[in-house]
Amino acid sequence: MNHDPLAWIDDELTSLKTRQLRRQLTTRSGAQRAQQVHIDDQPLVNFSSNDYLGYAAELATFHQQSWFEDGWGSGASPAISGHSELHEQLESQLARFERTEAALLFSSGYAANTGCIPALVGPTDAVFSDEKNHASIIDGCRLSGAEIAVYRHLDLDQLAELLEQHSTARRRLIVTDSLFSMDGDLAPLVQLSQLAQQSGAMLMVDEAHATGVLGPGGRGLAEELGVADQIDVRVGTLSKALGSAGGFVAGSAQLIQWLSNRARSYVFSTAPPPPLAAAALQALRWVDEQPERRQQLLAQAAQLRQQLGQQGWQVCDHASQLIAIRVGDPGLALQLSSQLRQQGLLVPAIRPPTVPEGQSLLRISISYNHQAAECDQLLAALASCRSLVQ
Ligand SMILES: *Cc1c(COP(=O)(O)O)cnc(C)c1O
Repeated sequence: MNHDPLAWIDDELTSLKTRQLRRQLTTRSGAQRAQQVHIDDQPLVNFSSNDYLGYAAELATFHQQSWFEDGWGSGASPAISGHSELHEQLESQLARFERTEAALLFSSGYAANTGCIPALVGPTDAVFSDEKNHASIIDGCRLSGAEIAVYRHLDLDQLAELLEQHSTARRRLIVTDSLFSMDGDLAPLVQLSQLAQQSGAMLMVDEAHATGVLGPGGRGLAEELGVADQIDVRVGTLSKALGSAGGFVAGSAQLIQWLSNRARSYVFSTAPPPPLAAAALQALRWVDEQPERRQQLLAQAAQLRQQLGQQGWQVCDHASQLIAIRVGDPGLALQLSSQLRQQGLLVPAIRPPTVPEGQSLLRISISYNHQAAECDQLLAALASCRSLVQ
């Protein structure tokens, strides 16, 4: 009679704890800011936010009454009656920004990937996925029912072999992050687009961390490398540098028509709150008007990355605003993160399953709003922990 069918959960949670893999939710009070957040009532310099350009912080104070006139709830899925003029405007501005014919708004980047991939490939098809792709891409691949060919991180030779091996699949889709979210490194989009062209495969690139940050116009890595027009399916999110929430896919008019008919996370989910679309529209204007923000952000990150290397930390050498310090052991990553926290700095430890076993890391997200003083504080704190790691 007293049997608890959920008792296994306690055992599993204990097991996570002993392996240093249990996550404890922390609660932030007040708005999120790069320079300071309050987590569990402790003030911390925030090196853990995706608000790279400071727009989330600015949108908290800069908004107009008209943004809220349509209310918060969209009332229905887009095809029923939820698609408002604000959504329409945002989609057309996203298409303009991405220089594509059309764009489609999803309720999150996660929903964009899990909806888009199964709409493009199915059981008689093959999808080729970098082993370090974001979880939402992995889940989209699984949901699609297509044969999943995972290639080693950035390994073009293996990808070419796999494409060859699956040459009889009805359709083939190559999918990759552009700026990888954990290591802060970059996908070889020029070579990937060549491979896609040679093999006749579709190419899908998720620019979640790069939208607003990379490229002369802030359009992402594909723009920076000059291959934006060769990417069939461009994914981005409004929740990182754009400071709002929601995900999008940009591409040809026919692609967007197809997705609006067939992407289940689009068709069967209520349209996102209109004020979020209004906020994203404003952020897109700022991205156009304020190139100096992304330039300053990347310069600051490059300098910090170099200084960390000089201290002897193992940092990846890539030009992005995400700096990963390779630590390896999850317990050690937690220990470093907690020492930094005692010194007033919020730098998250990234552990499995977000990264593979043995590849735990400290992840530093730089924002335009960080001042030199805060980076110096971080450098000094890390120098004091240096002896913990060889
Ligand atoms: C954050 C992220 C997503 C998810 O976007 P949300 O809008 O937060 O759901 C998707 N893909 C990548 C590569 C990301 O980094």
